[in-house]
Amino acid sequence: MMTKLACPHCGSTEEFRYREDQTVNWGYGVVKIVDDALQIDPDGEHSDFGDVGTGAGPFIECVECGEGFPIPSGLKLNFVDPL
Ligand SMILES: [Zn+2]
Repeated sequence: MMTKLACPHCGSTEEFRYREDQTVNWGYGVVKIVDDALQIDPDGEHSDFGDVGTGAGPFIECVECGEGFPIPSGLKLNFVDPL
């Protein structure tokens, strides 16, 4: 059972953002993983083009090195306090 994210590029387990394509690329804070679900906080940057979770090509961005990687399989997405 995965309990935390790890960047496959730099190995960081510190800070990540959830990103998806809403015409332009928007990022959301990843709070933590609870019960195999990524808790994604849509505060901060958010899109006028669509609600969080409806964009294409979602991925996780490592704040440490800036590289992206796919959302680990088996993890659900839980958008906390949706807009
Ligand atoms: Zn990294």
